[in-house]
Formats: sequence, structure tokens, C-alpha cells
Amino acid sequence: METVRRRRISRQIHVGNVPVGGTAPVVVQSMTNTDTRDVVATVAQIQRLHRAGCEIVRVAVPSREAVDALARIKKAVTVPIIADIHFDFRLALGALRAGADGLRINPGNIGDEDKVRRVAREARERGVPIRIGVNSGSVEKDLLATHGGPTAEAMVESALRHMGLLEECGLKDFKVSLKSSDVLTTVEAYRGLAAKSDVPLHLGVTEAGPGVLGAVKSSLGIGLLLAEGIGDTIRVSVTADPEEELPIAYGILRSLGLRHRGVDLISCPTCGRTEWNLMEVAQEVERRLRAVVTPIKVAVMGCAVNGPGEAREADVGIAGGRGQGILFKKGKLVEKLPQEKILERLLQEVQAMTGERIL
Ligand code: SF4
Repeated sequence: METVRRRRISRQIHVGNVPVGGTAPVVVQSMTNTDTRDVVATVAQIQRLHRAGCEIVRVAVPSREAVDALARIKKAVTVPIIADIHFDFRLALGALRAGADGLRINPGNIGDEDKVRRVAREARERGVPIRIGVNSGSVEKDLLATHGGPTAEAMVESALRHMGLLEECGLKDFKVSLKSSDVLTTVEAYRGLAAKSDVPLHLGVTEAGPGVLGAVKSSLGIGLLLAEGIGDTIRVSVTADPEEELPIAYGILRSLGLRHRGVDLISCPTCGRTEWNLMEVAQEVERRLRAVVTPIKVAVMGCAVNGPGEAREADVGIAGGRGQGILFKKGKLVEKLPQEKILERLLQEVQAMTGERIL
């Protein structure tokens, strides 16, 4: 398979036990949307995200109560947790003391530089990395004036300024994100910073939008950069349950030959030859195979005549026919089955091939 030609080798940091940057695989992140003070709900969501392939989870910490909850959350989960802090440096210090594996701050909204320095020093002493989150909406006023708005150049300059401040405090373990809701500005900003520094980069398109729109914008922004070898961690942003982000994230990485976790589901676009309820079946297969970790190609095709041939590269697949369907492997017919049994038979086969339990 074609893969990304040249990966930009950034300096490596660690978020908890997860390496980020250098030659480490591109890491998949997400963020909880529960009220962090609700420890039970937040832990449950973190665990669901982790099971679905999320390797670092970000949690909003907007208050003192959320800091206290963070300490309890940390004791209940194994996946590294990044505390997302805005405005109040005391919450950042609190999150470090509560055991956060990383901090995400926008130094621009933390206040004066001394406050940022205090956070940076405490993070350095604890060996905890920081993500500098530059957002087009919060670029400093003087940079907006110089650049005539929140341009890619303004975002890069803002990032370099914040990086300089952390470095002054002896903190080297940080990564940067440069997010804009405009895909091309985001891409240009990351390209600009990648050319100027070896800092690890966290990719994302902010406020990408709901459902399909968010998936398209995120895939384009993240995909363009990854295809150029830029990017060490990614977060797909869709206005939906955060678990919905993970199949998209792995879909992007799989399509670029960067990661091969889980099921690569192939299904035909349907046509006048479609002989069964393919759309429903494909959705059910996608849902029930989401937790599979082993790389495997699975096909769900509309007709038994052309389907196996069109999905020749699939390890295993099914195709519908009139009242009956078939199971095939690598394009070859293996078994004919009544229509109503075919879905369960496919899941059984995936279970046997991967050794993983399918619910
Ligand atoms: Fe049409 Fe069959 Fe091809 Fe699906 S597999 S697009 S139903 S010919």
C-alpha cells in the first residue's frame, strides 16, 4: 500500500505512557463532553472512548470542583488524561497536582506571562507536557493588527511567542495545535509552523460542524497535513457524541496507510442490481464491529453476482441475493445462506478470524 512518503520527524514527548512525535505512530485523541464534576459519567465516557481506540482523552477543567473530580477520575482510568484549562492559571496548577498527564492551555487567555511561567515551571518539575492550543479566535490583538486578522501567519507567530515563553522556563515537553474553523487557514498555519520548528503537532479543525460536514472538514484538514508527513496526534471534531469521532479518525489514518487498527469496512454504493437492505445491514455491521482492534477488511455488498468480485480485496464479506445471500473470502464464494442468517454468520466469521468477541 502507498503510504505517506516522508514523515516530519518532530521531537518526542510523552503524555503519560503514550509517546507523541518522533517515530511514534500518530496518536488518536478525543475529548469528553460530560460535566467533569460528574465523576461516574465522565469515567464511563472515558472508558468507552478508550475501548473505541482513543489513546489520550482530554477533559475540560473549568472550576475548582472539576479539579477535585479530576483527581478521582485519574484514579479510575488507565488512559492518559489531559486537563483542558482556560483563563485561570490556578486551575492549571490544581490539575497538575490532581495528576493530569498533560495540560492544554492557551497561554493567550491565561493572563500575564508570570502566570504562564508558574504553570510551565510546575509542569516541568512534574515532567508533565503542555499543549499550547492556538485558536484563530484568540490570537493576540497586536498580531491581528500586524497581520490584518487571524491569518495563518498570525497563528504561527502566536504559537512561536508562546513556545518561547515555555522554553524560557526550561520546559521542552510541549506540543502545539493551531486551529481555525477554516480548513485552508488551518492547513497553512500547520505547514508554516512545521517548517520553523520540530515541535510535535496536534492536528484538528475546530468547530468543524455536525455529522457529515464535520467529518469532511476534519478529514480534509487532517488528511492533507498527514499526507504531507505533518502531524503527531489528531482529534476529529464533530458536533456529536465523541465516540463518533474515533471511526473517522481511524478511517483517515487507515486511508493514508498510517495505522491499521480495526475493521476496514467496504460496502458498495448500491445500484439497480441491489437485492437487499444493504444500507441497514452495512450500518449494523459498522456498529457491531467498532470495538474490533485487529486489522481486517470486511465487505458488505449489494448483489451476489458482482459483489464478491468488486470486493476481492476483502478478507471476508457478504452479498445479498433474492431471499438468500452468500459469504465470500478474498472474492471466492464460501457458503450460501438464507438472507436472515447472513449478518450473524459474517459476525461469527469475523470473531473467528480476529479471535475477538463480537457483541
Ligand atoms: Fe451494484 Fe452489485 Fe456493484 Fe453493489 S455490488 S454496486 S449492487 S453491481
